[in-house]
Amino acid sequence: MIAQFGDADFGKEEIGKDSEGKPVFRYRTPDEIGNCKREFLQQLLQFELKPSIVVETKNGFHFYWLLKRNEPQDLKMFEPIQRAIIKKFNSDPNITNLDRILRLPNYLHLKDLDDPFLIKCIKFDPQLCYIQEKLAITLGCDLSNLKNNENSRRFVVVDNKVKLRNDIVPLNNSIDIYISEPQMPKEFDNLEQVIAFLRQQDLFQILRIPSQPGKAFNCIFHHDEHPSAVIVNDRGQYKYFCNSPNCECHYKKGLDIIDLTSALKSLSFYSTIRYLCEQYNIHLKNADTKWAEEQKAKYISNMELLSYQMFAEKYKSLSRVIRSGARVLLEINQIGLENITYEYFGFEGQNVFFFSNRYLAQRMKL
Ligand SMILES: [Zn+2]
Repeated sequence: MIAQFGDADFGKEEIGKDSEGKPVFRYRTPDEIGNCKREFLQQLLQFELKPSIVVETKNGFHFYWLLKRNEPQDLKMFEPIQRAIIKKFNSDPNITNLDRILRLPNYLHLKDLDDPFLIKCIKFDPQLCYIQEKLAITLGCDLSNLKNNENSRRFVVVDNKVKLRNDIVPLNNSIDIYISEPQMPKEFDNLEQVIAFLRQQDLFQILRIPSQPGKAFNCIFHHDEHPSAVIVNDRGQYKYFCNSPNCECHYKKGLDIIDLTSALKSLSFYSTIRYLCEQYNIHLKNADTKWAEEQKAKYISNMELLSYQMFAEKYKSLSRVIRSGARVLLEINQIGLENITYEYFGFEGQNVFFFSNRYLAQRMKL
């Protein structure tokens, strides 16, 4: 997590309720909006914990408190703190989801094409960073019932990375993954090929589950009295499904070997791939300098976010926005991955690569 934030919008005000009790709104005039903005900004800037970033939108402000990157963060605290911000600043009550998309400065707000508004960043103090507890206490947010819940699912951010996969915990420590040795060395051109190969590996053997495709067994992730888990072999690719909605691994699209290994070993996506590559004696063709490794990790981590099944379910609104472009972004990252050159040719430390739209379209068979 990078920040806790709020969204104040003065475009309309509630002026009463209709016969069914639904709120009735009235649009404010530009002058009224201007006044509301001035008053609000004063209140916001007088708040004990100064916001790190304030962005002026057409009808209000987006305001952010950046979080300290090296302090532990708890995703479970995110929503209660968002609610406390809403209460304190009387801001938009819907801004409680982690994957909220906010407006970008220097871009036009074009809801009304005849009246564009340039979004402006009016305060930018990235050195102002806070820890969640401090924000929570100052905002009068009660986190006591979260603290008592240490044993339940924990969402922790380590090294500035949300550990999304660590939220699934096996029932006991004896559950592990088993990969028979020795493995013949294999070489693949790209990550896609590696993932395809890994998904073909027999999950029954790997998890030592004495069952067969389509036949239910007791789920290894929840106390399961009636067998509710199945492993499915779909055209050579194995997936683990738990049909119990109470189960932490109840994901509609199922879990593949990467999801399972990541959960059982508490590894990030990239580390999981690296671990499985070691186990299966897989080598990826590519440069292996430290810089190239970092660039590779960057593209892979981007691709992880774009193709991660759990990501799409956890961050619904962000996924909805990038859904139509996700395939294109994935392909561009793949092109980047195949074209890591030398640090010397980079820009600001990042790999640079070029391709034409025609080349991209050809690759994607568009
Ligand atoms: Zn389950």
